[in-house]
Amino acid sequence: MSVESKHPETLQLHAGWRADASNGAVAVPIYQTTSYQFHDTEHAANLFALKEMGQIYTRIGNPTTGVLEARLAALEGGAAALALASGQAASAFAVQNLARVGDNIVSSTDLYGGTYNLFANTLKDQGIEVRFVDPADPENFRRATDDRTRAYYAETLPNPKLAVFPIAEVAAIGREFGVPLIMDNTSAPILARPFDHGAAVVIYSTTKFLGGHGTSIGGAIIDGGNFDWEKFPQRQPALNTPDPSYHGAVWVEAVKPLGPIAYVIKARTTLLRDLGSAMSPFNAFLTLQGIETLTLRMERHVQNATAAADFLAKRPEVAKVIHPSQQSGETRARADKYLKGGYGALLGFELKGGLEAGCRFIDALTMFYHVANIGDARSLAIHPATTTHSQLSPQAQLASGVTEGYVRLSIGLEHIDDIVADLERGLKAAEA
Ligand code: PLP
Repeated sequence: MSVESKHPETLQLHAGWRADASNGAVAVPIYQTTSYQFHDTEHAANLFALKEMGQIYTRIGNPTTGVLEARLAALEGGAAALALASGQAASAFAVQNLARVGDNIVSSTDLYGGTYNLFANTLKDQGIEVRFVDPADPENFRRATDDRTRAYYAETLPNPKLAVFPIAEVAAIGREFGVPLIMDNTSAPILARPFDHGAAVVIYSTTKFLGGHGTSIGGAIIDGGNFDWEKFPQRQPALNTPDPSYHGAVWVEAVKPLGPIAYVIKARTTLLRDLGSAMSPFNAFLTLQGIETLTLRMERHVQNATAAADFLAKRPEVAKVIHPSQQSGETRARADKYLKGGYGALLGFELKGGLEAGCRFIDALTMFYHVANIGDARSLAIHPATTTHSQLSPQAQLASGVTEGYVRLSIGLEHIDDIVADLERGLKAAEA
């Protein structure tokens, strides 16, 4: 029996698990097993035929990982979830679950670099075209849609621009066509709830804020259970036509007795079965530990980042601060509409001194870690022009929002005085 609640603080501690039925253990056990004894041949056959849900083999499901999946689904307001080995696996599966050779998806241009590479190169090599459009005008998604468009894709709070995506506007366009909106909510768990605005699928890199402690790579796909796949058989053949890889199952029909979760069941029983990007039970356990304090942590992340943004905005060395709290006009209106839980932990700023000042700033930091990551309990910093974006031409860097003096921060949970003191140290060095 699991505790019922509509409050994230409670769900983070209780959803999907009560004490162990056999020994009363309160913490979720790490089921470090590969396989599971079937009761008898009928039980085994039912599991394989999806007539009954249960464990078969840890590549496609595990009880520890299952608690994480149930907790994520509850927390996000979705119907069911699938945990995966990384955020990259989650974004790849989210698209591959619908799009096949010759199909396309329409994606926002404002993406994490790894997702951009996946879309522009690897999926292209697999015969799936990704059409990139500027999200500033939601109608760009409509304009890029054709008969072979299977999904829309975007990030809620993409860095470096940190301009919040128009979720409801694009989801509504998609629903006219039968095209689901897949939202990567990695930077804004708790802060934004994409399903409330019509998104059909939410994905996470659990590596970041959900895990929170920088210990475990992981990812997840959450099925909103709110998209009528059956209504659009031409548009969504992957879920509406017999799947030869699962003895001809038509997913929307085969999964009906289990609930509106055809999308995520298909991802588990075909893509995860075949490609094998399973999350380890140990990583699921560590991610669950992180999630227990997620709301508390996000509150402090937001409080510290907003204070750090205010501090930087007043400094003469700084040309511009990029954080939703500093935005105005339509960009700010979108942030206020979608980031109900606060403006987020990611913060960018441009140093007037350009490239050299950016490098001097980073090298002078003593508390911030200089790493290519976000969403850790510790404060993190990077200079994109010489690292994450260094392979792009100067023009492409500018288009993605990275100037030579741009510094990206992921503000952690330390005392704000120590965060400000380290920023001060960096600014002094940048000036020198
Ligand atoms: N999505 C976003 C927004 C990210 O920032 C990242 C990683 O930085 C990913 C997806 C990929 O996640 P992972 O590193 O867990 O594969």
